Amino acid sequence: MALANENYLKTPEIYVFDEIEKQVNAFKVLHPNAKIIRLGVGDVSRPLPNEVVQAMHKAIDEMSKVETFRGYSPPQGYDFLIEKILKEYRSIGVFLDKESIFVNDGAKSDIGNIGHVLGRDNIIAIADPVYPVYENATIMSGRAGVLNDDQKWSNVVYLRCSEETGFTPELPSEKVDVIYLCNPNNPTGTVMNKVELKRWVDYAIEHQSIIVYDAAYQAYVNEPDVPRSIYEIKGAKKVAIEIRSYSKTAGFTGLRCGYSVFPQELLVYTKYGEEVPLIKLWSRRNANYTNGVSYIVQRGAEAIYSRKGKAETQELVNYYLTNASLIRTELLSIGFDVYGGISSPYVWFKTAYNQSSWKFFHQLLYENHIIGTPGVVFGSSGEGYMRFTGFSSREDTLLALERLRKGI
Ligand code: PLP
Repeated sequence: MALANENYLKTPEIYVFDEIEKQVNAFKVLHPNAKIIRLGVGDVSRPLPNEVVQAMHKAIDEMSKVETFRGYSPPQGYDFLIEKILKEYRSIGVFLDKESIFVNDGAKSDIGNIGHVLGRDNIIAIADPVYPVYENATIMSGRAGVLNDDQKWSNVVYLRCSEETGFTPELPSEKVDVIYLCNPNNPTGTVMNKVELKRWVDYAIEHQSIIVYDAAYQAYVNEPDVPRSIYEIKGAKKVAIEIRSYSKTAGFTGLRCGYSVFPQELLVYTKYGEEVPLIKLWSRRNANYTNGVSYIVQRGAEAIYSRKGKAETQELVNYYLTNASLIRTELLSIGFDVYGGISSPYVWFKTAYNQSSWKFFHQLLYENHIIGTPGVVFGSSGEGYMRFTGFSSREDTLLALERLRKGI
C-alpha cells in the first residue's frame, strides 16, 4: 500500500488566489457585461523588454545549428549570466563568489526547496500577514505541528506585523532557527531599512539561525536607506540566503528565471553541533534534483543587464511603481489608512468602516467592479485590510481610482 504524504493534506485544498477567482466567476454569472478591473493580481501585465526578446530569438537560432547547439546547462547556471549577477551585486558594494550563485526557474521553487536541506526540527518564523508559500512549504514539509483553534500552527512562530510596527515584523521573543523575511514585503508593500534589517542579522548571528531573505521585489527599492540586498548588512553572509527573481523585475512571470545566493560562510549544524556550510548541502540537492534553466531563458535574463536592457527594465519597474503611487495617493486622499506603495508595487490599506476583508472585497467587486486581495488570505493579522497592486495597465488603474472616487 502506497502511503500518502499526509502533510500535503494539511494545506488548503485550493490556493488562496483560486478562491478569489471562484468569487469573481460567481459575480460574472450575475453581471456578464461588467468591466472588471483587477487590482488584486500579483502578476505583471506589460510585455517582455525588447532586449530580452531579441536575445532569446538569437539563442533559439543558436540551438538550431549543430555548431552552436547547447544541451544541459551547467547545474548552477551559465557563467555569462552569473558574471552579470555578480557585477550587479558589486555595484551596490556586495562581493560574492561565483560558486554562491544558483540560477533557478524562479523564486517560488527555491522558497519551497530550501526545506529539503534543513533539519525537520527547526523552529520556523514567519511574518503575519505573509506571502502564503512560506507557511504552506512549512506545513507540507511536516514542520508546522498541529493547527490550533486560532488557525495558527503549533511549531511556527508568527512575527506579528501590525499598525503599531508600521507592518514590519517584530523580532521574536523566543529562539527561532529559520526566519523567512520578505523585503520589500508582499503583501503589505512595507520595507525594512538597513538599521531594522541589521537587528534581524544580529539576532540570527546570536541564535545561530538562518534567514531566508526573499528579495523578489528588490528592483522596486527607491529609498536610499532601504537595502536591495541583505548582504549590504554586515555579517549577513554568515546567516542569510538571498532569493531573487526576474519575474517582477523584467516580466519573467511566464518565462521563469531567478537565482538564489548561498554564501560559503553560511553555516548550519548537525545534532552534535558540527558546522556544515549550507552550500554543500544545496549543491548536492541541486546536482540531483534539477537540470537548471534553459539556455534560451538564461540568454534572455542576461540581456537585462545590457545598457538597453537595464533602461527597458527600469522603465517597466517605474511603470508599476507609478501605478502604485497613484493608488496610494488616491486612497490617502479618500481617507484610507495606507501602507506601502513607495518602494513596492503593493499598496496595503485598512478597509472602510472596519469591515472584514472579505466583506470589503465583495463591496468593491459588486459596487465598483474592482478586484482587490482580501488581507486575511495572507494571515489573521491581515484581517480588516485589503491589498491593491500596481501591476494592472495604467488605463485600468486610473479607471479603478475614478470609480473609487466617484462610484461606478
Ligand atoms: N516571493 C514573493 C514575495 C512573491 O510575491 C512572489 C510572486 O508573487 C514570488 C516570490 C515568486 O516569484 P517567482 O515568479 O520568481 O517564482
